[in-house]
Amino acid sequence: MKAMLLRRVWDLRTQPTPLELVELPVPEPGEGELLLRISACGVCHTELDEIEGRTPPPRYPIIPGHQVVGRVEKAGRGSRRFKPGERVGVAWIYSACGKCQYCLAGEENLCSQFRATGRDAHGGYANYMTVPESFTYPIPPIYSDPEAAPLLCAGAIGYRSLRLSKLQDGQNLGLTGFGASAHIVLKLAQYQYPRARLYVFSRSEPEQVFARELGAIWAGSIEDTPPVKLESIIDTTPVWRPVVEALRNLAPGGRLVINAIRKEELDRASLAQIDYPTHLWMEKEIKSVANITRQDVEAFLQVAAQIPLHPEFQEYPLEEANQALLEMKNRKIRGAKVIRIE
Ligand SMILES: [Zn+2]
Ligand SMILES: [Zn+2]
Repeated sequence: MKAMLLRRVWDLRTQPTPLELVELPVPEPGEGELLLRISACGVCHTELDEIEGRTPPPRYPIIPGHQVVGRVEKAGRGSRRFKPGERVGVAWIYSACGKCQYCLAGEENLCSQFRATGRDAHGGYANYMTVPESFTYPIPPIYSDPEAAPLLCAGAIGYRSLRLSKLQDGQNLGLTGFGASAHIVLKLAQYQYPRARLYVFSRSEPEQVFARELGAIWAGSIEDTPPVKLESIIDTTPVWRPVVEALRNLAPGGRLVINAIRKEELDRASLAQIDYPTHLWMEKEIKSVANITRQDVEAFLQVAAQIPLHPEFQEYPLEEANQALLEMKNRKIRGAKVIRIE
């Protein structure tokens, strides 16, 4: 099978093609696993964090990709949940221990044995992958394969972020950054909180225009000040400055949710500008979003199909995965990026 392989940490500024196209044997599904023939895999900012070493794979080489749509090719011993040919998705959660206090409390995203698809186990930038059947999801029939892919991370994590933001209908929600996840959060918020007002902060003008097209009542740059203070803000940027600016724009008692697995170091100095009365006093809260649970993915796929939420996406062939990643790095983004695998 064909696969795009990561062999070590790279600096994308000096190595624009970190993934290598290789030919590998098709893997065999183990006990309780499925072998999937992959048709689409979303491209996520977390892949940049893996490649550039902010959340590096524990072992190399590794096939990245954690928004996978495919069909069951073969079931391993003891796997009975799906028949060959059925369509399923795989998300960032590849497995968790199932026994610890977090797993038992429905917080398997916090499990110390949490394994991530495409980082701790081979992912979807390939023709085939194996996965535990209990960590797969049926895809609602209204979606095409490439359309479903970005729902599995950008969408599901956006759903989790919005839930953690504690937004109530009629309040003001800010989104800092407007990539794949934020544009899905906007559509989801419009459905779940029809009277909420949406404010989008982005460095990029095309993203601001795109946000207004999708119904944001205000869109400006990260440093701009919206006409009102915001009860909830979700940050999906890879850097620190937007965090400081978001805290400034929060209403008393407001909550900032940081939806990023890691932040980049570039502008860490911005944090020194945090001024207690301006940015933190009045019971402002900061919460990070860590990973995802199966419950989040299942619940989100259901609500997405009800809305129905159709993510905007651009397609790339497997061989051009590096190109897609580089465009993401350089913020050439309109909606989500999806690798098509034939
Ligand atoms: Zn992701
Ligand atoms: Zn656990």
